[in-house]
Amino acid sequence: MIKFLDLQKITETYSDEIHEAVSRVIDSGWYLQGQENANFETEYAQYIGTSHCVGVANGLDALILIFRAYIEMGVLQKGDEVLVPANTYIASILAVTENGLKPILIEPNIETYQIDDTLLEQYITPKTKAILIVHLYGQCAYTEHIGEICTKYKLRLIEDNAQAHGCLYNGKRTGSLGDAAGHSFYPGKNLGALGDGGAVTTNDTELAKIIRSLANYGSSKKYVFDYCGRNSRLDEIQAAVLSVKLRHLDQDNEARKQVAKLYLDGIKNTSITLPKVKDWNAHVFHLFPIRCKNRDKLQQYLTDNGVQTLIHYPIPPHKQQCYVEWNMLSYPITELIHREELSLPISQIMSICSVELVVNLINQYQL
Ligand SMILES: *Cc1c(COP(=O)(O)O)cnc(C)c1O
Repeated sequence: MIKFLDLQKITETYSDEIHEAVSRVIDSGWYLQGQENANFETEYAQYIGTSHCVGVANGLDALILIFRAYIEMGVLQKGDEVLVPANTYIASILAVTENGLKPILIEPNIETYQIDDTLLEQYITPKTKAILIVHLYGQCAYTEHIGEICTKYKLRLIEDNAQAHGCLYNGKRTGSLGDAAGHSFYPGKNLGALGDGGAVTTNDTELAKIIRSLANYGSSKKYVFDYCGRNSRLDEIQAAVLSVKLRHLDQDNEARKQVAKLYLDGIKNTSITLPKVKDWNAHVFHLFPIRCKNRDKLQQYLTDNGVQTLIHYPIPPHKQQCYVEWNMLSYPITELIHREELSLPISQIMSICSVELVVNLINQYQL
């Protein structure tokens, strides 16, 4: 069987280094907010190209804390509007509503699946204060036009970089393109921990300081509390594992690109829509999303032939019970993607022969 993602095998690739790192932490007797965290934060900030990195408990917290810190700074106020892609994973939107801010859903471009920057301006009101872009499926969502709009309307630009570690836009990493970025190190992400983990990267010293405090009960000095904060920390074991995996990230992303190239060159079935790659540097293929009108039938066919696939995502945010007030709204492009999308297996350890098997199965598939 070809698994969608074989995490056991991925971890095994770095087995010696990971065991050494985890043992080091176990033996040290220091499990939170220690040297491993400090080291990883320095390495990751350097890798992304920002002056600050704050390790937090997960990707959702990273995004929540960015908005919360902007509220504490007076940059954002409850009720302010934030433009977000309508087809994102729910966590991006949860981070906005959790803070009492109002998400304004924007349709994606049907070719790139990224937020359609030509639509943004018509949704800007005096209450619009930020844009949250999501580098969905591992492809850069940033465009020069988005940058210009942020400057023109004085909007903060926040990146959800949960799916795009290592992605480059004009030589700069995603996660360094806006004012702040949230990263997730959920095990299945391109840079994945052995459990939960997340980080914020930014060049804004004050923002970084407030986020660090908010993530530590609102305290920057022991037993002194400036904010009603929360507990959101990256533990030492995860930080040590992430330092190991960060060293291999570029190489891992290259291997993912090779898989993507084989899919793009090999799949000839005309009932399949392949993802469009605008720039090979600006895509790290967290996922390989294809589209097919008869998606569920194709998925069943692949399952029957031993190939695991997933759908990202089956129900769009505006159709979810948790956002019942949006259920009647219509986002046709988003809905089309959710109806037709199917993610093929892709990872840094997938063999050429497995990719070829999937390609052949898809080419033989008839509607
Ligand atoms: C995974 C993910 C998140 C949330 O990250 P967690 O670490 O699971 O909390 C946020 N946004 C996007 C786009 C994601 O894919």
